[in-house]
Amino acid sequence: MSASASIGVTGLGVMGRNLARNFARHGYTVAVHNRSAGRTRALVQEFGHEGEFVAAETAAEFVAALERPRRLMLMVQAGEATDAVIEEFAPLLEPGDMIIDGGNAHFADTRRREAALREQGIHFVGVGVSGGEEGALHGPSVMPGGSVESYAVLGPMFEAISAKVDGEPCATHIGADGAGHFVKMVHNGIEYADMQLIAEAYDLLRQVGGYGPAEIADIFREWNQGRLGSYLIEITAEVLGHTDAVTGGPFVDVVVDRAGQKGTGRWTVQTALDLAAPVTAISQATFARAASGQTALRAAYRGLPGGTTPVLSRTEAARFASQVENALYASKVIAYDQGWSMIQDAAKEYGWDIDLAAVARIWRGGCIIRASFLDRIRAAYAQDPALVSLLTEKDFAQEITDAQVPWREIVAMAARRGIPVPAFSAALSYYDTLRAERLPAALLQGQRDFFGAHTYGRVDKPGMFHTHWADADRPETDA
Ligand code: NAP
Repeated sequence: MSASASIGVTGLGVMGRNLARNFARHGYTVAVHNRSAGRTRALVQEFGHEGEFVAAETAAEFVAALERPRRLMLMVQAGEATDAVIEEFAPLLEPGDMIIDGGNAHFADTRRREAALREQGIHFVGVGVSGGEEGALHGPSVMPGGSVESYAVLGPMFEAISAKVDGEPCATHIGADGAGHFVKMVHNGIEYADMQLIAEAYDLLRQVGGYGPAEIADIFREWNQGRLGSYLIEITAEVLGHTDAVTGGPFVDVVVDRAGQKGTGRWTVQTALDLAAPVTAISQATFARAASGQTALRAAYRGLPGGTTPVLSRTEAARFASQVENALYASKVIAYDQGWSMIQDAAKEYGWDIDLAAVARIWRGGCIIRASFLDRIRAAYAQDPALVSLLTEKDFAQEITDAQVPWREIVAMAARRGIPVPAFSAALSYYDTLRAERLPAALLQGQRDFFGAHTYGRVDKPGMFHTHWADADRPETDA
């Protein structure tokens, strides 16, 4: 077999098959391989006319089909499957070759694999790919980590197959080793928060506003024309407007209210705890999914007293909907701000040089959280790459100031009426925590010093101190 393929894709499941076709449609010769050869044959048979494919049945054939430096992309399940495939192929490769992992790997695994393969001179490139099945075929958002040298070769290929917004590709080199998978993980964390916030807005519109699902679909369609314009708002309108074929009623009413998850939101929260990154809207969104699945607990709590929920009049409801829009927008800005802060914390921890404006740029298309306001986030970081928070940028600050009263009213009203808004209230508390002049953390420090002699700092002099709590006559001492 002659080495004619620019890239090879192994693992021809939903994502791998579509990515391979996307590369081929962009003029690249693609070697294709799968553990079970049936999928390889099916791909070439069904889609062979779309471009140049080289079907390989064995690992050796697959590697032999690749031009040097070899570019071999894995699209298999994260975890053991990925390690197994790396073990199979790495011995067949040479220094300078590249193994690209496009699966949803944990960034810590990517860091481990990158370090191990670097010893052999092989570039291991962990790539976050967002956009699901459709995105993989028509243009995903691509978040590659790995070495600068590998991006010099792979970058043009990723940029070619990625989604384009205003002529700009939704692909960029994120940073060394696991940076790409890290940023993809945070993307998914933000996605959890965005979805939960939208779900809370729907719940309020329905329970307090008295709107039916089809009416709420119309409200979301209207919001989609404004600053909330995004893929998630668009599909929410579709889902809410959908009628169940069996019952003839709203689709949303026949769906069991237990949310699933594949784990990237959970990873975001676990990692945030390690980094001490307070991504409260993301974590509340993740816990809200977990709570929805706690069947026994829900049965135990069901029927306990809550607030009252009189439905608003139609005139009041219209004003209320506008308040919900404000609360949703403000909370969404906070959730995204938390995600960007977490990326900044990780960049410091792992020594990554991440262009925060570029992250916003490549999320404008292809991925699940694509939204019109990402262009403004891009502009904010482009103007000041060291921006600590979006809320220090003047337009975002003004919007949050303007949204404040309705935002607070919505959270207060939800509390009074007993409607759960964990992500709305987490976002508002985050805002109030960070803007506070003094936090009760001072009292916590006192408590910690009392029971554990953990010491505290003083506002009036440098150093750390300990108070001898049991002995009032002894002076406070330097720690
Ligand atoms: P999939 O349809 O289930 O396909 C999995 C592929 O992995 C199959 O080709 C399978 O080969 C292969 N495989 C599994 N275990 C293997 C092993 N031990 N050795 C060799 N090959 C093995 O999965 P997918 O949805 O395409 O997802 C692939 C990766 O992309 C995952 O990491 C996923 O998290 C990630 N991802 C998915 C999406 C999405 O929307 N689906 C989006 C972004 C990223 P066989 O055909 O022989 O079983």
